[in-house]
Amino acid sequence: MEIGIVGLGLIGGSLGLDLKALGFRVYGVSRKPETCRRAVELQIADQASPDLDLLKDTEAIFVCTPLAAIASTLEQLTPFLAPETIITDVGSVKQSIVTECSQLWANFVGGHPMAGSAEQGIEAAQKDLFRGSAYVLTPTANTPQQSLAKVREIALKLGSRIYLSSPEDHDQAVAWISHLPVMISAGLIDACMGEDNPDILSLAQKLASSGFRDTSRVGGGNPELGLMMAKYNREKILRSLQNYRLSLDKITKYIEEQRWKDLEQILKNTRDNKPKFLH
Ligand code: NAP
Repeated sequence: MEIGIVGLGLIGGSLGLDLKALGFRVYGVSRKPETCRRAVELQIADQASPDLDLLKDTEAIFVCTPLAAIASTLEQLTPFLAPETIITDVGSVKQSIVTECSQLWANFVGGHPMAGSAEQGIEAAQKDLFRGSAYVLTPTANTPQQSLAKVREIALKLGSRIYLSSPEDHDQAVAWISHLPVMISAGLIDACMGEDNPDILSLAQKLASSGFRDTSRVGGGNPELGLMMAKYNREKILRSLQNYRLSLDKITKYIEEQRWKDLEQILKNTRDNKPKFLH
């Protein structure tokens, strides 16, 4: 089977490495000629070019560009594709992307492989990135079943666990477990930096250790990614942030009023519920 990948960065590059190793013939497209040259050198693609025309005879195309370029890539790509060509994307927000892309191409299947790293670009591509991790497919009532089955089959070959969900539910779920933590973690670093006593701030910076490392990790990452989450998943992040604020208000009130039993009950609940999120 001949597969196209547009956007040869961390996700597109990692996908290419695995698909080629699985025996697919991979055609890669990326903006920069240098990225395309590296893609062939690194065994990410059999052929690569900045020209989307390279993909005209492929059977399935994975669009792995940044979120902002996914729909515009389809606009440029679709005029020369056969209608049976499947287009899928890997964007980490689904509702707006699926709505726009399904209008541009009937044979579109929304997808989100939930694997990654803090690195970006083709040099960050790694084999087996998707093995053992979730891959969410977000069909709508109009998604062709055969195309959904084909993308599912490819994702299974990557070693992923497949989940099906509506784009809306996907976006609210990732708002809770991925996007909200970025905002909370960023808020933590921001609040600490607001300490107005320079001696205390300096001491805190010297003392910060494993607890701070864990809670600040996702808020201290790539600003562009956080911005994209907020822009593309605005409503769902806001809903999660508003609910989070209610929890924080409740905890604050219990501490202010020295309601230690109530606080203890919350902490016992969170201890008991955490394993339900991380298996
Ligand atoms: P990335 O490492 O920055 O890779 C994106 C690559 O796309 C860039 O290296 C760039 O390569 C190329 N590109 C940019 N604009 C393009 C365009 N208009 N046409 C063709 N190629 C273009 O980003 P990533 O982390 O792989 O993310 C890609 C997608 O995966 C995003 O939609 C993101 O939401 C999704 N995703 C990311 C993660 C994660 O953890 N990072 C996880 C799951 C899903 P050149 O400019 O060098 O050619």
